[in-house]
Amino acid sequence: MKTEDIASLYRRLLRAYGPQGWWPADDPWEVCVGAILTQRVAWRNAEAALSGLRRADLLSPAALDAAPAEAIAEAIRPALFYNAKATKLKALARALLETWGGDPTAMRGEPAHTVRAALLAVHGIGSETADAILLYVAKRPTFVADRYALRLFERLGWVPPGASYEPVRAAVMAAWPADADAYGELHALIVCHGKERCGPRPTCSGCPLSSLCAHPQRRGGRR
Ligand code: SF4
Repeated sequence: MKTEDIASLYRRLLRAYGPQGWWPADDPWEVCVGAILTQRVAWRNAEAALSGLRRADLLSPAALDAAPAEAIAEAIRPALFYNAKATKLKALARALLETWGGDPTAMRGEPAHTVRAALLAVHGIGSETADAILLYVAKRPTFVADRYALRLFERLGWVPPGASYEPVRAAVMAAWPADADAYGELHALIVCHGKERCGPRPTCSGCPLSSLCAHPQRRGGRR
């Protein structure tokens, strides 16, 4: 992966879709909670579940830590997989209280690799969720190599079919020395592009990346 390729991707997507202004929540703790609630569902489901937690007065780390998992599950039903996510939220709340004194912004004072390792040690937090929190809460540059990014990079011919999260993340970060704001924007733009046109059946006509991408010729993407 080359620096100029990623820079060009970023510029083209930014020109096409404009600044995305992510994450779609402002409060750092709500970003952490939202990163779990949105696992395997659309953001609108996570947003409804966040509202449910707010209504039930369960949104703070202390409240989530103290509440029975059943009560949390009831409040977050719109997020689906609510029993599993309730357990994950309790684990995250406990980790936040024990490791960062209940203040997510305390992550910003620690080395990125320390924060990432601590997040990955929490039940229910995998690479994608850890990187979302590292990026939008701890404000550290990291690449979220989610399914949108993996599909796009495979179509661009930058990674082989079946490439996995960690090697792709490492390759992007080795090639693109950008700050957290730029990485945050890149992630949001790739998600936007994946939803707008580069989905399972891509709409390649007029794509801002068409001159970089051989996928239409290879697989017969719709034009
Ligand atoms: S040309 Fe098609 S496959 Fe390539 S990035 Fe654009 S939408 Fe995706």
